[in-house]
Amino acid sequence: MRRVDAVPSVGAPRAGFPGYSEASPLDFDGLGAAARQGMVERLVGGTFDAWADAASRVGHCAHPIKLVGSSSRVDRATGEVTSTYSSRHEPFGVTYVRCGNRRGSVCPACSRIYARDTFEMIRAGVVGGKSVPEQVSGNPLVFLTLTAPSFGPVHAAKGGQRCRPRDGHAVCEHSRSVACWQAHEGDDLAVGTPICPECYDYAAHAIWQWWAPELWRRFTITTRRVIARAMGVPDLRLGEVATLQYAKVAEYQARGVVHFHALVRLDGPKTLEGYAPAPASITPLVLAGWLEEAAARVHFDAPPCAGHDAGRLRFGAQVDARSVTATRGDDPHAPLVGEQVAGYLAKYATKAASDTTDPRRGCGHYRRLRATIDDLADHRVAGDGYELMGKWVHMLGFRGHFSSKSRRYSITLGALRRARARWQRIATDSARDGRQMPVLDFADLIADDEEETTLVVGSWNYVGTGWDTAADTALALAAADRARAYDQWRAETAWRA
Ligand SMILES: [Zn+2]
Ligand SMILES: [Zn+2]
Ligand SMILES: [Zn+2]
Repeated sequence: MRRVDAVPSVGAPRAGFPGYSEASPLDFDGLGAAARQGMVERLVGGTFDAWADAASRVGHCAHPIKLVGSSSRVDRATGEVTSTYSSRHEPFGVTYVRCGNRRGSVCPACSRIYARDTFEMIRAGVVGGKSVPEQVSGNPLVFLTLTAPSFGPVHAAKGGQRCRPRDGHAVCEHSRSVACWQAHEGDDLAVGTPICPECYDYAAHAIWQWWAPELWRRFTITTRRVIARAMGVPDLRLGEVATLQYAKVAEYQARGVVHFHALVRLDGPKTLEGYAPAPASITPLVLAGWLEEAAARVHFDAPPCAGHDAGRLRFGAQVDARSVTATRGDDPHAPLVGEQVAGYLAKYATKAASDTTDPRRGCGHYRRLRATIDDLADHRVAGDGYELMGKWVHMLGFRGHFSSKSRRYSITLGALRRARARWQRIATDSARDGRQMPVLDFADLIADDEEETTLVVGSWNYVGTGWDTAADTALALAAADRARAYDQWRAETAWRA
């Protein structure tokens, strides 16, 4: 039986955790004067404990959703009302629900849960667990990175090497030097910005980004074709010998264009349960070769947009396909371990354009890119395939999912969320009734979820988003940060032990 771990509550003392002290359960040093004043008002008014409880129940979400209403649990068999719940009985007369935002810059607390779920989802597809059979770890697995092509030379951090060592006198048609003799650090704001903004093809960049999800879709189709041909079966009968599974995230590079990271796994024949063992002859190296071939072949002829013809779109020539082992073996040359890759992908799934595209970046590169997208959106014609382009300016024209997976890669994020909600309900009920929390297997949590014997009847209204004052928001953020520090400390001490 695998125990499902509790999410730590922030208020309780943690033996040995240096971030906790009896005198100051939260780190208030970083709070501004307004937040301190707000906290004092809550203490004086006697509402601090109630607020701290409410904040703790939503995991210190920065912008919780406020609902008013009530619901009843009804036994399906007898029609008996087993419990009722109403927001009227909450201390502030409203029920707070997590915002659930994936982006760390919007809500650190909810983004950490999203990252944790993404990690669990990706990890289960590597080593099994969470209802995924462990045999899956025996199937060939490859970590793949697909980048965008070049839209013009940009400044780059090259690990201490010079950026663009060229003849110091050579200039482009805009009389700018084509060379850069600096050795940029990774955090240099020039990194990712064009050597010459006039030479840089902003329209081609915007058009490629717009079609990046379509290129990925075609890549998965092309890969299946390559595999079918290599295995000697017709395309439509590939499922009789093998199935392709993947978990993918999109990440912005410094130049403001997405690239894709994916864990790609080859399973055996298609079955109802999925995760069948792959044919023994197919090693991760063989799979990596097929992925490289598909990446080189895939293309999409983009329709022109507002007079700009980007022509045939492809991925960049830098295709990186590396084999992944489920666990660290004795082989020192085994380059990647599933756990590491899962953590890496989960981290990038929580980033968005605004988190990586620092607005201070030199020469207004992102401003110019946004202006180009606005301009294309303004001058496009009906039915050209660029509908709603203007709506995605804040994402620098990327309209795809930041994290997605094939059906049988692993468990879904939705099932993980439902299992957590059910776990929390059992924990709350146990605490209220003074009972010991039962030891639960993950399979129990999702199995019960499927055959629910009770019916929940309710009526709810949305009344707003966010805490009532800036002080409350600052306190929630401070508590969320402390929970993060605690988790990190716990992970480090567990690792050392
Ligand atoms: Zn939130
Ligand atoms: Zn440079
Ligand atoms: Zn130029």
